[in-house]
Amino acid sequence: MTNTISILGSTGSIGRQTLKVAEELGLRVAAITANSSVERMEEQVRKFRPALAVMTDEKAAEDLKVRLADTNTRVLGGFEALCEAAVHPEADTVVTAVVGMVGLKPTLAAIREKKRIALANKETLVCAGELVMDAADTWGTEIIPVDSEHSAIFQCLQGCRDRSEIRRLLLTCSGGPFFGKSFDELENMTREDALRHPNWTMGAKITIDSATLMNKGLEIIEAMRLYRLPLERVDAIVHRQSIVHSMVEFKDGAVLAQLGTPDMRLPIRYAMTYPLRAESAAEPLDLLRCPPLSFAQPDMDAFPCLRMAREAAEEGGTACAILNGANEEAVRLFLEKRIGFNDIPRRIAAARALVTVEKTPSLEDILAADAAARRAVLEYQNP
Ligand code: NDP
Ligand code: MG
Repeated sequence: MTNTISILGSTGSIGRQTLKVAEELGLRVAAITANSSVERMEEQVRKFRPALAVMTDEKAAEDLKVRLADTNTRVLGGFEALCEAAVHPEADTVVTAVVGMVGLKPTLAAIREKKRIALANKETLVCAGELVMDAADTWGTEIIPVDSEHSAIFQCLQGCRDRSEIRRLLLTCSGGPFFGKSFDELENMTREDALRHPNWTMGAKITIDSATLMNKGLEIIEAMRLYRLPLERVDAIVHRQSIVHSMVEFKDGAVLAQLGTPDMRLPIRYAMTYPLRAESAAEPLDLLRCPPLSFAQPDMDAFPCLRMAREAAEEGGTACAILNGANEEAVRLFLEKRIGFNDIPRRIAAARALVTVEKTPSLEDILAADAAARRAVLEYQNP
């Protein structure tokens, strides 16, 4: 059970909800980090009084230092400081809630210090899942998933003594705002359309990933890495109501599911209190009032990102790092209104075609694959 946390990405959607859970559970906050949201950071420091506050943007760090001159919180700037927050000696648990593969090095640093990892930052596992899980095994570090599907699976697996008893994992998928549309109909979808998620309020990047279904593709890879299962034993199924958070089918045919209202504080809270559960004042699920639960096959023709993620998972090596880097860059361009919605899969496909896959990569190979994929997306010319 957690007593003191560091939060990487405290100003984001997961970071803010983690602070709410910390307040609820009476956890101490040792270190918090953000990129450039200075005002929000100042508020959080004044409320939670961490020993360390980090802004990766150096100018923002200078600004924060001035604002917090009357406090005892140490303020640092830059990427190295993010790693320092990840290994802060007072913290027993690190919540990785930054967005993107920028979370990889700090996560590895925290693993080496045997901090419990409450893992929200899925891009890290997608890019370098084998390295991260091997490091966790080497150092005997616990990785507890925060992503709702993976937390659901983690909860269903309590009491499962042998992974060979798992026949398959079934990740549920809301279908996003564009469920039922064809690829052609998606062509003109705007940033505003894509940011309108039916069930969850999240950061911009993951909301776009949910609209393209890349989020489910990344989650399939995340699940393969966390539970060390091959692709054919991880499936996605559309479930519009986001009440069943995911399921495990066992070899005797039993299917276990975790149900609940769509509220990220539940998986965050469980990652803090595991293996125990804490009392929560949140509104419980009322099965008599919730809509009928439905399930459907995802449409991989309309949402090629899901297919590309499965292909990268099958290929292995640096294929997933290329997929992820290309996706991060393409989503950024879409959010900046520089490319259209279907240009996201187009540019990812181009990067995958261009960048050579390294079969047994080192950390350097993974970082190089990520950089090459990003370049390929930026340099892409429409045919
Ligand atoms: P947000 O965009 O809301 O927050 C991201 C956080 O990371 C912010 O604190 C941001 O700081 C910081 N950050 C952004 N860029 C950098 C950078 N280059 N260097 C250092 N810090 C940076 O994201 P979410 O909270 O939605 O998601 C965080 C992670 O959790 C993602 O990997 C996402 O896939 C995963 N996740 C999120 C869920 C959700 O419900 N939101 C559900 C499941 C998983 P600043 O505010 O200064 O920009
Ligand atoms: Mg999820």
